[in-house]
Amino acid sequence: MKNANNTITEPARETPIYKETDVLVVGGGPAGIMAALAAAESGVKVTLVEGRSHVGGNLTIGLPILGFLSQKKELIIKGLPQKLMDRMKALDAASDHQACPLHVSLTIIDPEMVKTVALDMLLQAGVDVQFYSMFADAIVEDDVIKGCIFQCKGRREAILARRVIDCTGDADVTFQAGAPCEKGDANGGMQPPTLMFRIDNVDTDKLRQSIAGEPGDYQMDFIPPDYFGKNSRFITVGLRNLIQKARADGIPVPTDRTIIITGIRRGEAWINMTRVKDIDGSDSHSLTQGEITARKQIEGIAKYLINYVPGFENAWFSMTAPFLGIRETRRVTGRYMLNRDDLLSCRKFDDAVAVGSYPIDIHRPNDNDCTLEWCGDCYDIPYGSLLPQKIGNLLVAGRCIGTTHEAMAGTRVMSTCMAIGEAAGRAAALSVTDGVAPASLDVAKLRATLRASGAYLRS
Ligand SMILES: Cc1cc2nc3c(=O)[nH]c(=O)nc-3n(C[C@H](O)[C@H](O)[C@H](O)COP(=O)(O)OP(=O)(O)OC[C@H]3O[C@@H](n4cnc5c(N)ncnc54)[C@H](O)[C@@H]3O)c2cc1C
Repeated sequence: MKNANNTITEPARETPIYKETDVLVVGGGPAGIMAALAAAESGVKVTLVEGRSHVGGNLTIGLPILGFLSQKKELIIKGLPQKLMDRMKALDAASDHQACPLHVSLTIIDPEMVKTVALDMLLQAGVDVQFYSMFADAIVEDDVIKGCIFQCKGRREAILARRVIDCTGDADVTFQAGAPCEKGDANGGMQPPTLMFRIDNVDTDKLRQSIAGEPGDYQMDFIPPDYFGKNSRFITVGLRNLIQKARADGIPVPTDRTIIITGIRRGEAWINMTRVKDIDGSDSHSLTQGEITARKQIEGIAKYLINYVPGFENAWFSMTAPFLGIRETRRVTGRYMLNRDDLLSCRKFDDAVAVGSYPIDIHRPNDNDCTLEWCGDCYDIPYGSLLPQKIGNLLVAGRCIGTTHEAMAGTRVMSTCMAIGEAAGRAAALSVTDGVAPASLDVAKLRATLRASGAYLRS
């Protein structure tokens, strides 16, 4: 039964085929939602498979969407991502895009409503959405991906597809299909994960007016105090002196910066302050350790906020996000690897399929702080970064596209991931209808299709 190398040999089995589809999207986060919508809008059969009970990925963990606007305050994410925001806004479930000196722009969303609104859009577009199905394996023959196997409730099932788009965030499909991937910085260090949590009954007006009124007492990173005086929706980054005070009083706070995000409803504040080092978000055991450690950190952070931060005096802990937020795991070794210089030089590419502007924002793997670098304008996301090596009919979208560790720290925000998802979906559909491999696609035609459907590209 047990092999010498501490493994077992599973018996061969027949796996039922659930369906055959044109485009299979694995992962229903920001990238996957847009990839599936874009492909379906282009008229091909689309199936989206998600391991959890809902779509949304990190759109559901209490984060604002950053980067709809550029550093020059222009709208650079249009098309399907903006359509999702329009639907959310009509339900009071999303704010306007608001410029921010540090985060370029923030769009506050209701994490619960994303699940419903995005699902409605997918179903209306005719996407077959399957939940509770974890990607388990890639079916690969002669460097062509023929489909994927999923661990569904009770049994494994196969879905056969002509094109597959890997939107797992972790490049699970690409890795399993045998295409090369990378992980972390030069030492393999990855940005640490965070378990988001919500505190209710916060007087956010008192908080912002305190920062604006007494800047000497409430030191902020990068964002000038008068910004808080003018904006009722905001993200604080800083209050380092208050954390030091709390630590001196024996309260454990795992990060040097107080990151508070106003929620969509009055009195809600989402807290981005747990921080667990040395976690590999592509490994279940490591993820479990991350959840345990982050959950333990919340007590100290909540104590700190309630006792030291203005506006939190009458607040209470409300809820944690449904899962640990993973900033970084695998990145696909793309046909082009977008890098730090490309971002900082605002590089244009002939095969650009999306545009980003969010700065390089690295929560450093080895200490409690952050590296931030701005380019002053926008940078292109080239189609070559959506194409893994080796497997010709596989595309990738979202945070795991072909970038270096540094470039990923800019392209990872959810607006950019959505725009990349839309590009991948249109590319997959076009490659089916034109009968060519994604790598051989007429990129000028893809760009024209993206423009015609409302996506933003620079000239
Ligand atoms: C703590 C934290 C704070 C952040 N702050 C911000 C912020 O303020 N604003 C911002 O815009 N961005 C922020 N980001 C970055 C952003 O959230 C992510 O980079 C982005 O969500 C990536 O999108 P994605 O679609 O590639 O992946 P994800 O959002 O991770 O979605 C991946 C989806 O695939 C599914 N999936 C994964 N593996 C499998 C599998 N094997 N089988 C089936 N389904 C699978 C997941 O369940 C999930 O639904 C933050 C990230 C973290 C972790």
